Amino acid sequence: MSDCLFCGIAAAQIPATIVAANPRTMAFRDINPQAPVHVLVIPREHYASLADLAAADAGLLAEVVAHAHEVAVAEGIAGDGYRIVVNTGANAGQTVGHVHAHVLGGRPMLWPPG
Ligand code: AMP
Ligand code: ZN
Repeated sequence: MSDCLFCGIAAAQIPATIVAANPRTMAFRDINPQAPVHVLVIPREHYASLADLAAADAGLLAEVVAHAHEVAVAEGIAGDGYRIVVNTGANAGQTVGHVHAHVLGGRPMLWPPG
């Protein structure tokens, strides 16, 4: 999608702090971090939401989750624990229409979130 922010990051047309790049997924730091570690993991291919990705390519969804865990290990937060969040739709506050998994950690996570 030519007007999609995260497609632009995936294509290296929009700058981002890349953490790790896999063949079908990539990870970069959130521009407005909500925790000491806050990384976003996306499929390179455009899917608008978790619902779309799950319906179209469950294997790719599994790669996103596996990559999120790899990021947690690499960032040193896997031992103490971390949170993966996929905001989906308006009530969840999804603001970018390219599915992304937030990897959050480095401090105790409150539950429930606001
Ligand atoms: P969501 O509300 O789940 O759609 O999350 C979108 C996330 O994208 C927010 O946490 C933003 O801070 C983050 N974000 C927006 N623009 C950028 C960008 N250019 N680079 C990195 N993260 C971004
Ligand atoms: Zn996109």
